Amino acid sequence: MTSTAALVVPSPGAPFERRVIERRDLRDDDVLIDIAFAGICHSDIHQVREEWGSRAFPMVPGHEIAGVVAAVGDGVTRYQVGDRVGVGCMVDSCGECASCKDGQEQFCAKGPVMTYASDGYDGEATLGGYAQQIVVSERFALRIPDGIGLDAAAPLLCAGITLWSPLRRWGAGPGTKVAIIGLGGLGHMGVKLAAALGADVSILSRTDAKRADGEAFGATHFHATSEAGTLKELSGAFDLIINTVSANLPIADYLRLLAPLGVMVNVGLPTDTLEVPPGSLIGGSRVLAGSTIGGIPATQEMLDFCAEHGIAATIETISADEVDAAYDRVVAGDVRYRFVIDTATIPAG
Ligand code: NAP
Ligand code: ZN
Repeated sequence: MTSTAALVVPSPGAPFERRVIERRDLRDDDVLIDIAFAGICHSDIHQVREEWGSRAFPMVPGHEIAGVVAAVGDGVTRYQVGDRVGVGCMVDSCGECASCKDGQEQFCAKGPVMTYASDGYDGEATLGGYAQQIVVSERFALRIPDGIGLDAAAPLLCAGITLWSPLRRWGAGPGTKVAIIGLGGLGHMGVKLAAALGADVSILSRTDAKRADGEAFGATHFHATSEAGTLKELSGAFDLIINTVSANLPIADYLRLLAPLGVMVNVGLPTDTLEVPPGSLIGGSRVLAGSTIGGIPATQEMLDFCAEHGIAATIETISADEVDAAYDRVVAGDVRYRFVIDTATIPAG
């Protein structure tokens, strides 16, 4: 076993505590990673606060992990000590079902093992990336291209792939009009990726406060949804809308913004039921879809695309002492645009 310093939530919604946790001995296909940075995803907050139902505690959140390989198991072929790697939302899958064989491990028939708050196939609870080290199978480690700093790379492992999947699936590119609702961690990556894919990108944000940033990320249009008349003016304007909002929206008002045959993809995951009048889909033959993260090959493709196009997350780096306050700031929409924990600050004293 390897002992490592971590940020632990002892019970639902409790403040973080610094503790030492154990990582398993390396199996043949495992890599030990020295974590440099871990991003704070709104999903961490939903889970720590049990907004998605009960979870096992103590919990170590964190599924946006970037670091350097520190040791490898005897059978590891893909990585060497010193390689720059990331880990996202999954750390294992059966490897045998049709989805796994297709590189869509997120749909594993046995159920993928998530990076934290999940039971491994060995029965051990998983503990995530707000820590100084982690052990994972090399199959779930991603190569971080040299051109991207580890700090700005960490959020790509969840926020990046979560937006990359629907943008690719629904054909964002030259000639398509894409709107991103919510300019937070996921949303700002959606804007950067869609713009680099060649789409015409609009941002729908509550206020005008993030306009200059949104335009710098590559959006050509920015709309403040709290201003009267905004949604009415945009009726039928978009081919693809991706809703990244972490709270409930009056979805029918936004479905009206789709052009005929347009697609709205929900990636935000609040707890309330969506109210969808059938007419808002049937008129215009519109599609309402969902999307969850993405498989390992697509995640690597996204990382390589980001390096090629000079894209990474826009981050605020924080210390371990600041994580509780950062959670409140994320919920208040006060993050520009992803908090990343410097794991060197985790050990006590
Ligand atoms: P985030 O950084 O907090 O961003 C969410 C954005 O939504 C905010 O920046 C804000 O944008 C907008 N917003 C927040 N509260 C709102 C409200 N009451 N009404 C309208 N807009 C509001 O969160 P995130 O990390 O990007 O995650 C977003 C959601 O996606 C979460 O629910 C998370 O759990 C989920 N998620 C899903 C997946 C997946 O695979 N599907 C993966 C990761 C995360 P403006 O200030 O611009 O309005
Ligand atoms: Zn996430």
